[in-house]
Amino acid sequence: MNDTTERSEPPDQPVPPPAGTGSGSARCHWCGYSLKGLADRGNCPECGKSYSPETVTRLQPWPSALKICLRLGWPIIGLAVSILLFGSGALVCGYPFLVAVPINSYYQVRSLLRRSLPERTRTVGIVAVLRAVGTTVCVIGLLAFLAPFLFFAGCLIYLSVNPDAFSGS
Ligand SMILES: [Zn+2]
Repeated sequence: MNDTTERSEPPDQPVPPPAGTGSGSARCHWCGYSLKGLADRGNCPECGKSYSPETVTRLQPWPSALKICLRLGWPIIGLAVSILLFGSGALVCGYPFLVAVPINSYYQVRSLLRRSLPERTRTVGIVAVLRAVGTTVCVIGLLAFLAPFLFFAGCLIYLSVNPDAFSGS
């Protein structure tokens, strides 16, 4: 007997992720302890801080190294490309990228840390020290890159306000 009434398998239904802390990335926002399988809200068994569905999903897994490199490195790539394309003219074309290096590094690192590191790790110890150092380096770098531009802009503004400044009148 030819059984043509083959029972059609129902198409694989995507299983909705279980609500609350059942999903994979549920971690304590303060210490990073995995809250997988625990109740939707309560106190973290590791550090005792209270958690809720709003706080446990805030921490995301660390992005891949390639993504981090791209996020941090695009101004450097832009700078390299403009040097390749324009040679010495890159001083003008690559300038925005040069300024973008410290600004971008600062914001990217900040958002990376905020996204992926538990608060306790972020605000104490070596990470906090590195953050302070990194922020200082970024600010100094930005000032160094901006200094010639600010000086130039200042001269232009001065000249436009006092057109006769250098005519010796
Ligand atoms: Zn905790």
